[in-house]
Amino acid sequence: MKVNPAYNTKESLLELYNKPLLELVFEAATVHRQFHNPREVQMSSLLSIKTGGCPEDCGYCPQAARYHTDVEAHKLMTVDSVIEQAKNAKANGSSRLCMGAAWREVRDNKDFDNVIEMVQAVNDLDMEVCCTLGMMNEDQAKRLKNAGLFAYNHNLDSSKEFYGDVISTREYEDRLNTIDNARKAGITVCSGGIIGMGEAIEDRVGLLLSYMEMENPPESIPINALVAVEGTPLEDQKPIEQWEMIRMVATTRIAFPEATVRLSAGRTKMTMEGQALCFMAGAGSIFAGDKLLTTPNPEFNEDKEMFQILGLIPKEAFADGEKPVSKPDPIIEARKEKEAQRAKELAEAKIASAGFSPRKVTVS
Ligand code: SF4
Repeated sequence: MKVNPAYNTKESLLELYNKPLLELVFEAATVHRQFHNPREVQMSSLLSIKTGGCPEDCGYCPQAARYHTDVEAHKLMTVDSVIEQAKNAKANGSSRLCMGAAWREVRDNKDFDNVIEMVQAVNDLDMEVCCTLGMMNEDQAKRLKNAGLFAYNHNLDSSKEFYGDVISTREYEDRLNTIDNARKAGITVCSGGIIGMGEAIEDRVGLLLSYMEMENPPESIPINALVAVEGTPLEDQKPIEQWEMIRMVATTRIAFPEATVRLSAGRTKMTMEGQALCFMAGAGSIFAGDKLLTTPNPEFNEDKEMFQILGLIPKEAFADGEKPVSKPDPIIEARKEKEAQRAKELAEAKIASAGFSPRKVTVS
């Protein structure tokens, strides 16, 4: 992914972010038109496949077990119910499904095997599959790639400097390592941040600077506004003005002309006009559906109406990259083979015992 070298310092990014708003939007719209079809906006769906009970302490997250929020913890969804939800999202116009699990990290267990099967199944539906499962190592990334994963989401959230104010259970460096592991496996990277957590503008551009410093910056950069949830440490944060979202989207667009900038959480607090300015300034995707993991989001129908009014067209899947090929997973195949063998042995034992007639013993 190419970056705009004119904005590879904190100072230049700050200057850009602080430009008179309409000039900034105009400049971003100009860049957007050079690299993207400005009428196309991808509709993506975000599905919480395992909810709550997370051991991490991300200050914005209602799924952290240590905070007392209304989120009810749920075990991993079944593969069949994920397929059903994916079909529903596709029927409503989504071309990408992001599956999120509230895990600190991926573990090599049956749950991960199930996620692998979900990835294969959703890729078979011709949707771009993205996963956000916490930290992962290179082998796990390779399994996901092999299953047909298109993108891995792992947000840096904010600048290196501000990160520790919001999260203490893992380091910025850990996040960079996971992103690196996704890259090494050949998976595209989706990574962005949240604004409105009490950070300074320097931290917002500091986040972008972290991506600038990457050898291969993300293909997809989601920009979220904090949704302050009762019971989390950030519950009292005042909602940010939508102008800040527009500035952040526009600055990201200009700095990363080729990336897809995603207008993500916080849209319920924005007007349609505010969102329209974000599309003008280069947002190329929204999350559709009434839930964003656990927080509210506009309904499919509201978004369809907005698309109609603004003359937007839902972007097709794989417009920015080839559809990955789902290959059989060696671990799952070996397990299935073992299970089949065991079932065969049990069936044989049953037949043998059915034919076995014990000798009659007469007691005199
Ligand atoms: S953001 Fe993810 S890692 Fe952090 S607490 Fe929430 S579910 Fe856990």
